[in-house]
Amino acid sequence: MESLKALVRTIPDFPKPGIQFRDITTLIQNPWGFKRAVDEFVTHYRYQPIDKIVAIESRGFVLGGALAHHLNCGLVMARKKGKLPWLVERQEYQLEYGTDCIEIHKDAIQAPDRCLIVDDLLATGGTCGATCQLVERLGGRVVGCAFIIELPDLHGRERLSKYNVQSLVSFEGE
Ligand code: AMP
Repeated sequence: MESLKALVRTIPDFPKPGIQFRDITTLIQNPWGFKRAVDEFVTHYRYQPIDKIVAIESRGFVLGGALAHHLNCGLVMARKKGKLPWLVERQEYQLEYGTDCIEIHKDAIQAPDRCLIVDDLLATGGTCGATCQLVERLGGRVVGCAFIIELPDLHGRERLSKYNVQSLVSFEGE
């Protein structure tokens, strides 16, 4: 996956000092890179029964749309507070300072939907963990969590230890 990793742009001190922002725009604007990333996930999940892709705002939507098409699944958008127009299920989660929250439409998932959660990047796992809670509260089952990038230093995989986590590229101690 070194060739995929080379397509991720790192922007120091964005959006605030001390953060190394891992930017996937350079990967997805590269025709080979986007296809390779999508194909990796399709190969991994092709024979696993999945009903819904649950994509996390906003970069997860890009990957989620492509995966839903290839895996013949429905696509559910997990969005930040106040963006979805209908009745929502909401889950708050802890940030380093303060809290954030994620929402999905109440009718987006029904028991016993098998759901694959996708986002561009796994950091602390707070966003994905809250999304998994929402899915389960609506009667869905989380069959896996898929990310292009993982930052192991932030221990997201441990926070998501009861789920199957897959990532393509890892930035550790960098
Ligand atoms: P977390 O909830 O801590 O796992 O953070 C994951 C979410 O925040 C994802 O939706 C990422 O897009 C975003 N994110 C967190 N840290 C970074 C980073 N260093 N570079 C790019 N995106 C990040």
